[in-house]
Amino acid sequence: MKLRIQARAKVNWTLDVVGVLPNGYHDLDMLMQSVTLCDQITIEDADDLTLTIRGQGGSFVPADDTNLVLRAANALREQTGCRKGARMMLRKYIPVAAGMGGGSSDAAAALKGLNVLWGLGLGDDELERIGLTIGADVPFCIRGGLQRAQGVGERLTPVPLKRPLYLVAFQPCRGLSTKEVFTALHEDGIRDEDRPDNEAAQRALAAGDVRLLGRSLGNVLEPVSRRMRPDIDKAIRDIEASGAVGARMTGSGSAVFGVYLHAGACRKAAQELAKTYPTCRMMRTAECGVLIEEV
Ligand code: ATP
Repeated sequence: MKLRIQARAKVNWTLDVVGVLPNGYHDLDMLMQSVTLCDQITIEDADDLTLTIRGQGGSFVPADDTNLVLRAANALREQTGCRKGARMMLRKYIPVAAGMGGGSSDAAAALKGLNVLWGLGLGDDELERIGLTIGADVPFCIRGGLQRAQGVGERLTPVPLKRPLYLVAFQPCRGLSTKEVFTALHEDGIRDEDRPDNEAAQRALAAGDVRLLGRSLGNVLEPVSRRMRPDIDKAIRDIEASGAVGARMTGSGSAVFGVYLHAGACRKAAQELAKTYPTCRMMRTAECGVLIEEV
């Protein structure tokens, strides 16, 4: 059997830090959205477990067993006792250390794909539980679509999305480490005016009200990241100037995105922004995080 899998990126319409959990992790409240930008993974039967990496972002990710694809595969073998192998190939297009969930999505794709290839018959709940041992965003990437994500990101509630929305996204500078950003947030603290309005954003998404959505977006990690990387600040202003109804940093950065009233406005802005930011891509919201087809 050979499977071709799309591992989709995500953006954070919102990201709020609402407290500290008993285990010391941040208690988050976010609206997370799968988008059509994706890495591609093929997996096929083999005696050993191997991974090769290609694609424009391939040189930025480790090729050894610290790669999240191999970590996911090994976790699945440990949890199920399965000893089968797989030949895996990852084509990397999602920017790395960008807050677009690239590694998490690859891990989610490996879990879902190998579950099929190895005939394990696990449900998404079980895969999410295993995924959480790899990374906090992996459960979201397994569920995908539009979810309210709380706790470290593992408490997921589906949110309706009235219609597809059109975005641009790109990484205007080198990646930011999540740890570095949270350390800076501790020093600076959170101002109330930087908090997103999660309820209003959720209402806007359900109603397809893109203008209200634009006004409700927010990410409490953005002010520190804009200060640490002035390129992020400039990129967000450039997206706003391109006609976006809202522009934000996603996750802990360093990628930024903008959302537009309709596909035409988005396409025009993407062409214009690509002159300054060659990695700028147009994308649309997606209904799932992992798409598997047999080839
Ligand atoms: P998130 O949005 O989930 O916080 P991110 O976009 O900030 O994720 P990733 O692109 O997932 O960050 O990468 C984080 C780190 O994980 C990188 O430093 C990278 O070297 C490592 N990594 C391991 N495997 C992968 C993979 N398959 N794809 C991307 N990064 C990987």
